[in-house]
Amino acid sequence: MRASDLLHPRPEGLYCPPGDFFIDPVRPVSRALITHGHSDHARSGHRSVLATQQTLDIMGLRYGEGFAGTTQAAALGEAIALNGVTVTFHPAGHVLGSAQIEVVHQGSCIVASGDYKRQRDATCEPFEPVKCDVFITEATFGLPVFRHPPDTEEITRLLKSTAQFPERAHLVGAYALGKAQRVMRLLRDAGYDRPIYIHGALAKLSDYYQSQGIELGTLEPATVESSRKEDFTGAIVVGPPSAFADRWARRFPDPISCFASGWMRIRQRAKQGGVELPLIVSDHADWDELTATIRETGAGEIWVTHGREEALVRWCELEGIAARPLHLVGYEDEGD
Ligand SMILES: [Zn+2]
Repeated sequence: MRASDLLHPRPEGLYCPPGDFFIDPVRPVSRALITHGHSDHARSGHRSVLATQQTLDIMGLRYGEGFAGTTQAAALGEAIALNGVTVTFHPAGHVLGSAQIEVVHQGSCIVASGDYKRQRDATCEPFEPVKCDVFITEATFGLPVFRHPPDTEEITRLLKSTAQFPERAHLVGAYALGKAQRVMRLLRDAGYDRPIYIHGALAKLSDYYQSQGIELGTLEPATVESSRKEDFTGAIVVGPPSAFADRWARRFPDPISCFASGWMRIRQRAKQGGVELPLIVSDHADWDELTATIRETGAGEIWVTHGREEALVRWCELEGIAARPLHLVGYEDEGD
């Protein structure tokens, strides 16, 4: 069977005709397999959803319990038969619960990796390379200019700044699912033991991470209404990037605006966003991780999606690996 007969793009998302399911569909479908809880991959309204238990839990927290008609939890490494097609979820190292989906049928094996990274992250299971014929890779940071520094170095810079400006609040913009909890955990692993103040939009997911055994230490609500401005002197406050544009962010004492994202590699982008302390912390593979992973899978063919497809396709061709862009629409990752 040709690989493109096993999986190919449709307007709803990546479709498997023999298995009759979609992977990360962007429109409501009958059967959806979902790689992780970011809102561009995990949408509500499907008749049935197969995902890891943590991804199902996260969808429930974000959309409410009725987010799908029925749900089924996939254990990592467990082979599940769907109309004669075998699917297996493997960890992707992206956010809590994230998985790659291996699809096998009539001797053909495709791995749809969703979003992934290789940098170690204490808040989720590490990426596990899976041998396959076709590897579907993201390319969010698919240009050689993107090389993420060690996340510990970035957190050290944040802590140095708090020591240097003890009277100011440090406001750290971080996406609500994954990045925010990773930043908090990195602070704890670096020995920071003061309470971390969080925007209300992070509360449910951060509680969920803690319930899954990911220690984040003492988290306090960052509500200026119920506290005095001085209470936030020298504090680290974490909130979703969207909150930094509104009044909420201006109530803290002489705040230093920080943003944890892979895009902070681009100075211009940090400047335009008024970010004083850019922190290059990404939940996506950088250029070196992308190319190393492609080699590790041993895949003879690479399909490249969401991001800088062309550069990665070109790299594969120069390496003698067949590659093409997939042109899936509707993915604007919320967790870069
Ligand atoms: Zn994602």
